[in-house]
Amino acid sequence: MKAVVSLNSGSSSIKFSLFAIGEDGGLQSSAGGKIEKIGIAPALRARSVDGETLLEREWPDGAALSHADLLGDLFAWASDHPLRNREIIAIGHRVVHGGPVFAAPRLVDAALIDELDALSPLAPLHQPHNLAAVRAISKLVPELPQVACFDTAFHHDKPALASRFALPRALHDQGIRRYGFHGLSYEYVARRLAELDPELASGKVIVAHLGNGASLCAMEGGHSVDTTMGFTALDGLMMGTRCGSLDPGVVLHLQTLMGMSASGIEDLLYRKSGLLGVSGISSDMRSLAESQAPHAEEAMALFAWRIVREAGALTSSLGGLDGIVFTAGIGENDAGMRSRICRGLEWLGLEIDELANAGDGPLVSQPDSRVKAYVIPTDEERMIALHTLNVLGADL
Ligand code: ADP
Repeated sequence: MKAVVSLNSGSSSIKFSLFAIGEDGGLQSSAGGKIEKIGIAPALRARSVDGETLLEREWPDGAALSHADLLGDLFAWASDHPLRNREIIAIGHRVVHGGPVFAAPRLVDAALIDELDALSPLAPLHQPHNLAAVRAISKLVPELPQVACFDTAFHHDKPALASRFALPRALHDQGIRRYGFHGLSYEYVARRLAELDPELASGKVIVAHLGNGASLCAMEGGHSVDTTMGFTALDGLMMGTRCGSLDPGVVLHLQTLMGMSASGIEDLLYRKSGLLGVSGISSDMRSLAESQAPHAEEAMALFAWRIVREAGALTSSLGGLDGIVFTAGIGENDAGMRSRICRGLEWLGLEIDELANAGDGPLVSQPDSRVKAYVIPTDEERMIALHTLNVLGADL
């Protein structure tokens, strides 16, 4: 049976998912897993879709093992495993940045890798690791087609004003723009919404992707018209460890008056702020919800308040609002947080149905609520696999 693999390669982890291609061309999730703690003590876990452990390996002294070494091990295992009756015909990669140019997924070749490498300064914490996996696969199995799927692509055609900072024009021309991220998640959710509620999907909708990284996307007819993340994935909402939108004067103050280095400021804004920084306890919403500490409550209240505030701004970008969709770890699982956010948006005509919200959804607003609320689990891996098949098209 033919299969496609989705890879999401980050700085310290590589997530992978295997999708079998059914006779009707549909994708069935078969297996998945993660290589974690790359650069420290890597651990590899693969599970079947039924939760059966397929492989567990640890390298306690594997600090020197690169992404390429570990992917090599994964491939060696995959070709010598009962899954081998799955013929992997292509690999799709999540690539965080498509820059100003790439509006759709692309088949990888050497020239594309160079072009994407040139975009690394726009996403230095992510793009090099994404490309490390692309390069590693090119060496391991040069004949295997690879497809790059961009997190920015979904926002590529948003209105020009929503892409511009109020900075001198030359900087915009050099690529300093509001790109937006989480595009693969938004695209998947937009497709699911079109199946669940086509009328709403054709209207004005805010999708709230609330995970460790968090952003909102304003969509009209399933297309992005505005989003809270900008030049980097640091902008917009408060996140697990990222601060979100910040007066740029704070950065200048940290640098010039407090003498912080660029890398110190980067560490503060990306890794020590957000829920972790405000609570002083954890970046994980579940831990905060379980805590009795007042600072945990304040962090959760600020998280909700910032979402409500940004949702108001995006409603203006849309010129109205017909519905909101919650997705990702917090959006899908945290009924209490959904309730807080919906109550903050009551003034827009959103009435949450607390009973439905505590249940399985997907609709969590009152039947007669003017603005609807849904919970739709995201599946970025499936979106990557779908794009990969699509790009290969006739070659199948
Ligand atoms: P990532 O951006 O790393 O993919 P996820 O989408 O997995 O993140 O979201 C992680 C967040 O979701 C964490 O803050 C976690 O606490 C939260 N989360 C997951 N499950 C629940 C739950 N049942 N209740 C509340 N929060 C949850």
